[in-house]
Order: sequence, then structure tokens, then C-alpha cells
Amino acid sequence: MKWEENVRKVTPYTPGEQPKKTNVIKLNTNENPYPPAPAVAKAAAALNAEKLRLYPAFPEQTKLAEALAARYHIGTDQLFIGVGSDDVLSMAFLTFFDSDKPILFPDITYSFYDVWADVYKIPYETKQLDADFQIQPGDYKQPNGGVIFPNPNAPTGVRMPLSQVEEIVAANRDVVVIVDEAYIDFGGTSALPLIDKYDNLLVVQTFSKSRNLAGMRIGFACGQQKLIRYLNDVKYSVNSYTMNTAALELGAAAVQDEAYFEACCQKIMATREAAAERLSKLGFTFPKSYANFIFASHKTVPAREIFEKLKENDIYVRWWDKDRINNYLRITIGTDEQMEALYQALDQICG
Ligand SMILES: *Cc1c(COP(=O)(O)O)cnc(C)c1O
Repeated sequence: MKWEENVRKVTPYTPGEQPKKTNVIKLNTNENPYPPAPAVAKAAAALNAEKLRLYPAFPEQTKLAEALAARYHIGTDQLFIGVGSDDVLSMAFLTFFDSDKPILFPDITYSFYDVWADVYKIPYETKQLDADFQIQPGDYKQPNGGVIFPNPNAPTGVRMPLSQVEEIVAANRDVVVIVDEAYIDFGGTSALPLIDKYDNLLVVQTFSKSRNLAGMRIGFACGQQKLIRYLNDVKYSVNSYTMNTAALELGAAAVQDEAYFEACCQKIMATREAAAERLSKLGFTFPKSYANFIFASHKTVPAREIFEKLKENDIYVRWWDKDRINNYLRITIGTDEQMEALYQALDQICG
């Protein structure tokens, strides 16, 4: 067809499988195994359908922006809210990565970065993690059009000390550096306090993992006012009303319950440390994780085989047929009960 010449052709991001069966143990997309804060269910029940007749209020005026601003000690004008951090990151790519020079990110990282770069026609170059899956700050000191990396990194769970994050931000004052902190609440040190010092730093977080709300689709970015203004200019040039009224209200309820948030994170970290011990005993090796997953390789049984056999047992984990990581499984930390079922199955498969 002639019209196909004018189509923007992309290879889309492939998310982890969302199985149709309901009775499965789902440890493949890093969702939180615990329900949202009780206040979220209350806010959902109290939601007045009449309100949905109107467009949602501008995010700056909403309870969600105010709750986040109070929680993170920033102004609402230092905050950009989007439909999951995927929306925030996509808008940030479109806004800040408009150079002819390549943007830089690690070779093993969140597999959405190269997809956004391709769809927006942004040149990019990947930088190899070292043998221990560590990001080398020195690799990010060449001329570039911008830098992005997750901290802790995905899918490795490896964290970078804040001093090294700052080293990269400081070495790149003429471009925007985006730190994707999807997993920061599970043991990393946030770069958020650095936004006052660096006008080129954008810190992105999500409600999908540590705030138990993947289905609500809420993410946010923090940075100096000027960065946020540029981000809003692009966003309002694409779709003004991305956040729906329900998400804004329920999201605010989630932020206000700090004790529940803290308890869930602590529980997941405790289960992760127990999992590290059990998986070692089962013959797995992995870098120390500071996220809600463990990136593990078995000393004798190939990852693909374990992945497939677990699936036959209705246990879903993530495996990529990709160079350097195709002998690894990314296992989301579930409840203690789910993890026990995983160890039993692994004992059968690897024992
Ligand atoms: C999960 C994840 C995101 C995006 O999650 P949303 O659900 O869109 O907020 C972004 N970056 C990384 C590294 C992730 O793992």
C-alpha cells in the first residue's frame, strides 16, 4: 500500500504478560503484592459520579499535587504529574531530548528508553554496565544530548550511591539528566534533594510499585520551575487533561497514608532479604537488590527453562531473550506465601 510509506513505524515496548487466568502467582511486572492504602478504598467509595461530568481540575490545583508537594517538601510548581511514570518519561523525552547529539543510557536498563528514543527519532547510545551490573559514571561524561538512567536500575536492582548520581548530573550541566526512581522507596537514596542545586535534574517517580496503585496510572516528576514549565508546555500541546478525576482523588488518599506506605515497603524489603537467602540456597546468584525484585541466575539450570517450567506451575516471572541477560530471571517480591510457593516450585525444577 502506498500510504504505508507515510506511516511512523515502531517496534513497541513489550510489557510483562498479564495472564488471562486469575489463579496465578504473578511475579512478573513488579506490582505491589499488597492492596492500596485503606484510605484509597474509602476515597473510591466516596467518589461522586456527578463530578465526572466536568473536565478534571488542572493538576496544580488538585489535592494530589498538594499532597505530593507537602510529602516531598517542594512547591506544586516543581511538580509534573502524569498517567504513570511512562507518560511522564515519554513527555520528558519529547521535551528535553531535542538535540542532534545522542542521549546516553545503560545497555541493560528499562527497555522503554530505546522505544521512546525510536518513536521520537532521538539518537541514542548505550553505555555498558560493568561485570557487576554497575553503572560507570565516567561513561556519561562525553558530549551528549541528555542522560537517563533508573536508580536503582531495572531489571538489575543495583543501586547507585547519591554521590555518583550527583557526579553525572554535575558533569552534564548543558543537558537534562533524568533519574528514573521507580524503585527508590525500596532502599535507594533519592536525588530529589538535589533539584534545588541543579537546574538540569529531573527526578521521576511512580505510584505503580511502592504505592500499590499500578492500575490507577499515576507518576510524577520533580525539578526546578523552569524544567516543569517546559514539560507542561509540551504536555498541553498534546493532551491537556491526561489525569482523570478518580486518579487525582485516589492518588491523594494514597499519599496521605504515610504509615501504610512505610509498612508495605518495610514488609517487601524484609521478604526480599529472606528471598535472597532462600534463592542462594537453591543455587541462584544475583546482585544485591534495592528494588522490589531480584535479578537472578541459576548456576546450572538455564533461565529460560526455569521461566517456562514456573509458568506451567502458574508462577509468572520475567525473562528476556536478550544479550548478556538471557540467563537471568527477574522475580518480583510477592507476599511471603507467594514466595513460599515459588521456592517449592524452584526446588522441584532446580533441585
Ligand atoms: C515500572 C517502571 C516505570 C513505569 O511505571 P508506570 O507504571 O508507568 O509508572 C518506569 N521506569 C521503570 C524503571 C520501571 O520499572
